[in-house]
Amino acid sequence: MFELNQKLQNLTPYIPNEKKYRIYLDANESFLEMPDILRKEIHQGLDALLLNRYPDPLAAEACEAFAAYHGLPTKNIVAGNGSDELISVLFMSFLQKGERFATVSADFSMYAFYGRQCEVEHVEIPKNADLTIDPDAVIKTCKERDIRLLIFSNPCNPTSLGLERADVLRIVRELSALVVIDEAYMDFWDQSIVSCFADYDNLMILKTCSKAFGMAGVRLGFAVANDRLAGILKAAKSPYNVNSITQMVGAVTLRHKDLTESAIQDIINSKHELMAGVRKLQTEYGGFTALDSCTNFVSLQMEAPQSFHAYLGEKGIAVRFTEGLIRVTAGTRKENEAYLKAMREYLMKGC
Ligand SMILES: *Cc1c(COP(=O)(O)O)cnc(C)c1O
Repeated sequence: MFELNQKLQNLTPYIPNEKKYRIYLDANESFLEMPDILRKEIHQGLDALLLNRYPDPLAAEACEAFAAYHGLPTKNIVAGNGSDELISVLFMSFLQKGERFATVSADFSMYAFYGRQCEVEHVEIPKNADLTIDPDAVIKTCKERDIRLLIFSNPCNPTSLGLERADVLRIVRELSALVVIDEAYMDFWDQSIVSCFADYDNLMILKTCSKAFGMAGVRLGFAVANDRLAGILKAAKSPYNVNSITQMVGAVTLRHKDLTESAIQDIINSKHELMAGVRKLQTEYGGFTALDSCTNFVSLQMEAPQSFHAYLGEKGIAVRFTEGLIRVTAGTRKENEAYLKAMREYLMKGC
């Protein structure tokens, strides 16, 4: 019989939801549907696409629109099939056999996943007891363990906490390792370091259209880096990694900065409402803590999180239970209210 190698032996497909739910607050997606203006432009764009031809390998139009959105030069942008693909290319290309990478735990699970697939050693730097990052501990461990690549999400998924710009830049400055800052949620906070991309020889920033831009189904992410690193990432990725439809949808959406900015404000408002409701329950009942949120979700530290997760599931509400935290994505007002009602019922039962 064909023997699977060791790294494949315990692998199972990523299936976020086995069953159907009434309300999905589990994947940090945007709850807003695409505005009609965009849908119309996308339909027109589809009509004009030549699907018999390969896509533009450098996704120039999408990269230009992304660059304009952030006020960056286009040549320093690399597009990926979701930022997830870019993470995989970074691990495959910027690490080689025998080298070590570091994360700051708890963090996004895909970093460890790609590390295992690439057979490189993973050094997990612990967070503080309150789940914040200690920049000095990160710097010290990376130096001591000769780390080649450090990656962390800022703000962090799943903790929802953010590390301020000055602290992030200090880490980049102090290290010779490649430092990858995954800013998947930075559209909801104001401490981006993206404008500093050219100031360091070892910095790469990742962004995604899956969260604030409401395009999780489109699969589009970007890396921003200095000329040398952006150039080498373009060379290391597979040539046709971003399909023509995604490139077009991304370019159309990114050109409407006004629409995105108003969507981001709606999402932040929803998060504030959800947080206010949760904090009210915290005062009334106790038994859990809501962490400060710089993202579009609320993270809860609680006793018996599995039992709460299961209770919500029975009520048809999907939330994420990960790294010991209950992670609740901000939804529509109705969805938030349904979630808060279920949470109140659960707390009233006194479990
Ligand atoms: C959602 C998420 C991503 C993945 O984004 P895609 O562009 O959809 O692949 C990357 N990093 C973090 C921390 C995320 O939460």
